Amino acid sequence: MSAEAPAAASIADLTSAFVEEVVRPNAAAMARGEGLRPDALVRAAGDRGLAGLLLPVEHGGAGASHLDFARLVEAVARVCASSAVILDVHLSVGSEPLLLFGSDAQLRRHLPAVASGRHTAAFALTEPGSGSDAAALSTKAERDGGAYRLTGTKAFITNCGAAHLYLVMARTAPGRQGISAFIVEAGSAGLRVGTPLHKMGLAGSWTAELVLDGVRVDAADRLGDEGMGFRVAMAALDSGRIGISAQAVGLAQGCTDDVVSAGRSGAIDVDETLLADIHARTVAARLLTAHAARLADSGDAMTREASVAKLYATDTCVAAAIAAVELCAPESGRDDHPSAIRMRDAKASQIYEGTNQVQRMVIARALLGG
Ligand SMILES: Cc1cc2nc3c(=O)[nH]c(=O)nc-3n(C[C@H](O)[C@H](O)[C@H](O)COP(=O)(O)OP(=O)(O)OC[C@H]3O[C@@H](n4cnc5c(N)ncnc54)[C@H](O)[C@@H]3O)c2cc1C
Repeated sequence: MSAEAPAAASIADLTSAFVEEVVRPNAAAMARGEGLRPDALVRAAGDRGLAGLLLPVEHGGAGASHLDFARLVEAVARVCASSAVILDVHLSVGSEPLLLFGSDAQLRRHLPAVASGRHTAAFALTEPGSGSDAAALSTKAERDGGAYRLTGTKAFITNCGAAHLYLVMARTAPGRQGISAFIVEAGSAGLRVGTPLHKMGLAGSWTAELVLDGVRVDAADRLGDEGMGFRVAMAALDSGRIGISAQAVGLAQGCTDDVVSAGRSGAIDVDETLLADIHARTVAARLLTAHAARLADSGDAMTREASVAKLYATDTCVAAAIAAVELCAPESGRDDHPSAIRMRDAKASQIYEGTNQVQRMVIARALLGG
């Protein structure tokens, strides 16, 4: 990348080149779990200047906005939801906390490789016994001289096995204030990929357990102060939810594309009311996502708005996917039909980065001041 941040127009050009040259040709294979490895996809994004979209130009990133990020994720998800979630995790929860909480030395050491796509990033918060109640996590980080020893199991980790860097939340003391964040490099002794998750959808995205068995992490690789890990995780998820919203908008738009294409070709009789409703909800979801992204770009509080966008957009994409399957029947009964793929891909968006029940709690508590 040049020392100058690319203009929004050029990010749009880079995005459409990436979608047409990399994402679309691989989409069908990704849906079968046979496409590009996640790290190869991230590297291909990096080759087009997109793997460090939210990272500063001085560290090799594009210095772009959250709105650009949302547009990229939407454009990718419109064609391939698996590719979108791989990229979304790398760009947001996997790497943005480095920028927000990293020391100068950590930024210099890690950001250039992440921004170029040479290194893929992952975010490891969830455990078999702690999901929505993330503060209940039990992975331990015990002091060992100038280092820590991390022991525990993380569950449902996207990009697991393909990532070079894992942002791992672990317990240094009891309670919510006793969680710390660590940068753990793939290949560290004691770190291994556990059981892979065979998901109902998103087959091209790798999801697995990450097992830490006394992994030695230098104190210099702790992200933020000891006890700041919960804050790191929540900040990551606020911004991450913009990405999940954008993924859901792209997926919903893809469902409309399927129905419109089948309707125009005369393959199906389209229920106009249903199609119009899907379209209206998709437009609204896009605007809510853009609103949260703009708040993030201006540095304003956006926790509630990111939750509103995530809740509405992901409910919309599931409704759109079900509608597309119904409208494109009976062809959509084939498991390789685009609408069938989207229906299987859509559901997880209501679960990850905080279930939609949790989003409702976040929204209600923000309104009530709790
Ligand atoms: C495909 C996929 C990829 C993922 N990738 C990652 C990743 O990269 N990194 C990572 O750390 N995690 C990841 N996750 C984990 C995801 O964030 C968790 O699944 C999610 O936070 C929910 O946690 P849980 O599965 O333990 O469900 P639980 O918290 O056990 O919840 C089970 C159900 O109970 C509901 N529930 C829980 N508490 C309440 C409450 N107080 N009120 C009302 N309802 C409630 C939930 O909404 C849900 O419906 C991924 C998950 C999936 C499916």
